[in-house]
Amino acid sequence: MIELNVSTLSQALAANKISSVELTQLYLDRIAQHNPNLNAFITVDPERSLAQAKAADKQRAAGHAGPLTGIPLAQKDIFCSKGWLTTCGSRMLGNFVSPYDATVIERFNAAGAVTLGKTNMDEFAMGSSNETSFFGPVKNPWNTACVPGGSSGGSAAAVAARLAPAATGTDTGGSIRQPAALCNLTGLKPTYGVVSRYGMIAFASSLDQAGPMARTAEDCALLLNTMASYDERDSTSLDRPQEDYSRDLSAPATNKPLAGLRIGLPQEFFGEGCSREVMALVEAAIGEYRKLGAETVEISLPNMKLSVPAYYVIAPAEASSNLSRFDGVRYGYRAAEYNDLNDMYAKSRNQGFGAEVKRRILIGTYVLSHGYYDAYYLQAQRIRRLIARDFADAFKCCDVIMGPTSPSTAFKIGEKTADPVQMYLSDIYTIAVNLAGLPGMSIPCGFTDGLPAGLQLIGDYFSEARLLNIAHRYQQSTDWHQQHPTAVFDQ
Ligand code: GLN
Repeated sequence: MIELNVSTLSQALAANKISSVELTQLYLDRIAQHNPNLNAFITVDPERSLAQAKAADKQRAAGHAGPLTGIPLAQKDIFCSKGWLTTCGSRMLGNFVSPYDATVIERFNAAGAVTLGKTNMDEFAMGSSNETSFFGPVKNPWNTACVPGGSSGGSAAAVAARLAPAATGTDTGGSIRQPAALCNLTGLKPTYGVVSRYGMIAFASSLDQAGPMARTAEDCALLLNTMASYDERDSTSLDRPQEDYSRDLSAPATNKPLAGLRIGLPQEFFGEGCSREVMALVEAAIGEYRKLGAETVEISLPNMKLSVPAYYVIAPAEASSNLSRFDGVRYGYRAAEYNDLNDMYAKSRNQGFGAEVKRRILIGTYVLSHGYYDAYYLQAQRIRRLIARDFADAFKCCDVIMGPTSPSTAFKIGEKTADPVQMYLSDIYTIAVNLAGLPGMSIPCGFTDGLPAGLQLIGDYFSEARLLNIAHRYQQSTDWHQQHPTAVFDQ
C-alpha cells in the first residue's frame, strides 16, 4: 500500500479495498518506526488523525466521498491547524496551539483528507536545508548524512520515506522545489495568489505561496484542486474561476502530446554554477522531451543574476515587518525573567528566535531604515520588475522554461551552516520565479551518487494545468519519480 500514490490510493478507497482508518494507521505505524531517525514530523497526534479517518470513512459510506476523502496527508507546520501545535519550526511558537484553521487546512478538512501530522521545517521558512529548525535537522531518506533541502524539508523527507503519500509545502524562494529536487519528489509552486495565504504563517508576504509535494504530477494536480481557491480573507488572493488541474492528465484524449512544445533554455541556467553531474541529468531530461516531440529554443534572462541579491533585500524586509508581531505578549514564547516591558520584548525575542531569523530581521530593518530605503529596498523592487519583464519577454518565444532546480544534489548536514551566502545560493535557479510570481515545478530527473536531482519547469502565469501536463508526459515515459530510498523504505 505505501508504495502507491495518492490517485491510486484514492481508487483503492473508492473500491473499498481499504478503509481510511486502516490506511491512516499504516502511515502512523511508519511514522512511529522512522520518524525518530528522520525527524520529519514535529507533531503527530494519532488519536486526532484516526478520528478524522473515521469521519472520512463515514462520509464515504454516506456516499459523499471526493477524490481526497480519507487520504492521509502531512501538513507543513507553517499552516495554522485548529487544535494542533503550530510551531513554524520556531521556539517562539513552540507552545502555540492554533485556535483556527488556515484556509488550506480548512479546504483539506472539507475534502475529507486526514492530517497525519505537522512537518518539520526551517524556522519561519528561512533556510534551504532544514537546519535552522528549533526542532533539529531533518535527515534525507536517500542518505541520512545529508539534508533534505528546505524549508519544506520535513514534508519532503516524509513523502520520500513514504511516511505520507503527499504533503503541503510553501515556497518563498524555492522551498517547495528545492527539497522536492533533493528528495526525488514532484513539487509545484503555483502562480502567486492562486492559493490562499490566510492562516499560513507569513515570512515574506509578496513571495509566499503554498503548493503540493507528492510523487507524481497527477497527485500534485489532485492536491492543487483542493488547495487553490479565492479567499476574501487574503487580500492578494485572486478571484478567478475554479480550475480542474487534472483536466489535461488522465483521459488519453486530453493528455496533450508535446509535439510542437517550445522549451526555452535560458543561457543563465546552463552556464557556471551548476554541478556537472546535475547538469548532465538535466540535459538528458531535456533530450527526453525532444524525443517526445518538443523543440528547444535558447533564451536569455539577463537580470537573473540579480535575483539572489534582490531577494535577500525584499524577503528580509518583509520578514522583519511580519515577525514584529511576535513580542511575547499575546501568544508564543515569553522569557521567564525580565525587568520591564521593553526588557520582556527584547528577552522574549532574543530567546525565542534562532540565529538565521535574527539575521534576517536585522537585515530587514536595516534596508527599510531611513537613508537606506532608497539605496536598497527601492533598488531591489526595481530589479524585481526587470526580472518579471525578462520572463515576459522569454514567454514570447517559448511555452515553458526548463533548467536545473538546484545547483547540486543534497549536501551534507553541517556543510553549509557556517556560510549563509553559500546556503543562499542553493536557490539561484528558483528565486527569480518567486520574484516574478510565476508558477514553477520540480520533477525527478535522475540520480548521481545515489542522490536525486530535479528538473525545473517554469510556466507563464496561471499555466499550472499545462505545466502538470508537461510533467505528467515525462513521467509516463520515465520512471525516476518511482524510485524510492531502499534503506528506509524496505524496513
Ligand atoms: N531558502 C530561501 C530562504 O532562506 C527560500 C526559503 C523559502 O522558500 N521559504 O529564504
